[in-house]
Amino acid sequence: MEKTFDIVVVGAGPAGLVATVAAAGKGAKVLLLEKMEKPARKLRITGKGRCNITNIKPEDDFLTNIFPDSRFFRPAFKNFSNTDLVKYLNSAGLNTVEERGGRVFPASQKSWDVADVLVKEAEKKATVICRAKVSGLYTDRNSVTGLCYEHDGKQKNISAHAVILATGGLSYPLTGSTGDGYEFARHAGHSIVPLRPSLTGLELNDYEPINVSLKNIELSLAVDGGVVQREFGEMEFTGYGIGGPTVLKISRNAVNAVIANKKVAVRINFKPALNRQQLINRIEREISAIPNGSVPDLLRKLLPAPLVTPFVKKIQIPANKKTASFNLSDMDRTVNGLFSFQYYVSGFRPFEEAIVTAGGVCLREINSKTMCSVLLKNLFFAGEIIDLDANTGGYNLQIAFSTGYLAGQQAAKYVNTGYER
Ligand SMILES: Cc1cc2nc3c(=O)[nH]c(=O)nc-3n(C[C@H](O)[C@H](O)[C@H](O)COP(=O)(O)OP(=O)(O)OC[C@H]3O[C@@H](n4cnc5c(N)ncnc54)[C@H](O)[C@@H]3O)c2cc1C
Repeated sequence: MEKTFDIVVVGAGPAGLVATVAAAGKGAKVLLLEKMEKPARKLRITGKGRCNITNIKPEDDFLTNIFPDSRFFRPAFKNFSNTDLVKYLNSAGLNTVEERGGRVFPASQKSWDVADVLVKEAEKKATVICRAKVSGLYTDRNSVTGLCYEHDGKQKNISAHAVILATGGLSYPLTGSTGDGYEFARHAGHSIVPLRPSLTGLELNDYEPINVSLKNIELSLAVDGGVVQREFGEMEFTGYGIGGPTVLKISRNAVNAVIANKKVAVRINFKPALNRQQLINRIEREISAIPNGSVPDLLRKLLPAPLVTPFVKKIQIPANKKTASFNLSDMDRTVNGLFSFQYYVSGFRPFEEAIVTAGGVCLREINSKTMCSVLLKNLFFAGEIIDLDANTGGYNLQIAFSTGYLAGQQAAKYVNTGYER
């Protein structure tokens, strides 16, 4: 075995970096191992390069965005909240700005600046080694004794008084998040709640690619015929199906329903601000403006052009029909189509394109007040490896920061005092 550190942190994403800083801040000698060339590869591409660091919503509102059990996250959030995070980053030299919906970004609008501040803080206080791929943990009855890793083509063993697993999930594997930690956790006796892509696009049945972005629509998710979720905002039709903000929001429920073999449909309301009579009046006005027009001419007044052909096909009105012969049944079909344009969902985009991983190390097997395993007394978890995920809006990074901070503090407390659990 090599020289001993008090704590070895595996994975230099946001969770591992903050865990390192928190543990070292309590006086522990910490080694942070990262398998990629550079720490925090994923953090550097977050928020389309701008990094939505957190969301400044009050605790109860914040927690409604966390799944599958926000109660598990509350102690970590209370210990290092969204406001604590912003204060911490500001004091470390990173200015932040709050935008619409409580979302917090670096003032520079550069995710690299967030990563650099955290890496600098970790390097100041601990030993950080990159290109160090951990390949397994050594365990002995109810504790972890060390781990093995590969660095510069050499296998190395290292002992540790505590280990923090912060290896992330499975999404965007090119950033280094390839799910290695799940195997280590399994080896230590933990159960892994099935892993699913979340915050991901949806693939549609009977869909011919359309390329268009929509604003101010209402998107509903229907499972086995009943609407289970409604979101208002933006979405886009893409080569494979649908993506964009409202689609990401419904994707967690949609993915779960597809996996459960349920009948899953999305319904788009193109005119959510109008009631039925208002929409009929609007259509009648448009018809009187083009008495000799065709149905597609009419629809071009009501929908973005790329949607007109698929819409006409779906509502089954002959494309060459003239508005002059538009009858009550045509009006009904058009109104119903504009209020509820439906596709069945055939699948979802894979981990390679998903923002986060749902599932992970089972919450029942982690102490929510310490992030310590209930099976091994000195194994801690932080970040996306845990069975926690969230909506878009900065919530996922706050999960990584809060659980990382708590795991770091508590691992240090454990090595300092061998605390009673
Ligand atoms: C495109 C994209 C945009 C996003 N934008 C946002 C956003 O704006 N706001 C937000 O809140 N969330 C966002 N997220 C989600 C957020 O990035 C993640 O939830 C967060 O990075 C998880 O942090 P983590 O530290 O747990 O894991 P990760 O960031 O995945 O870090 C894990 C680290 O562990 C390392 N590792 C893995 N296995 C080993 C091993 N065997 N040995 C050594 N090291 C290992 C990996 O290389 C990696 O560096 C985004 C995600 C993506 C993909």
